[in-house]
Amino acid sequence: MAAHFVICKYCGQKFNRDIEPFVEVGTRRYAHKDCADKVDASMTQDEKDYYKLEEYIKKLFNINTISAKIKKQIHDFRQEYGYTYSGMLKTLYWWYEIKDNSIELSQEGIGIIPFIYSQAEKYFYALYMAKIFNDGLDEYKPKVEEVEIASPRVYTKNQIKLFNMEDDN
Ligand SMILES: [Zn+2]
Repeated sequence: MAAHFVICKYCGQKFNRDIEPFVEVGTRRYAHKDCADKVDASMTQDEKDYYKLEEYIKKLFNINTISAKIKKQIHDFRQEYGYTYSGMLKTLYWWYEIKDNSIELSQEGIGIIPFIYSQAEKYFYALYMAKIFNDGLDEYKPKVEEVEIASPRVYTKNQIKLFNMEDDN
């Protein structure tokens, strides 16, 4: 029986994955479970989301590394439009897996995102609202990071005055 020796992505040591607990990291790469847990604990949510986005794009285009072009697109979309990494991932998922579009027109990039982001957002927002509805409002515990809640309208004295003036007409 051949032993499954692999190299840990994080500590670089060779180990037998039949004996030691391991996790798969990305495509055909492995790590000690302990090493992966340590890395996971040290990553911010943003870093985790970025990692997930890259892993998803690799799977989508069947590539091993993210091209400079795609890295730049991710960076630019974040800077210019304020998109989140998880939002970009969801958008790609919606376009290619739910809407079942072909990657043939992608030009090996993710330039489609700004054109479809708000549509994808609407889709996931509807799903989210359906989930709240189905779960029942009493059991629902709001999760701040998942939905943007509009800030409450604050009336200044001037606005109230204006409102009253119009009312008097
Ligand atoms: Zn390790």
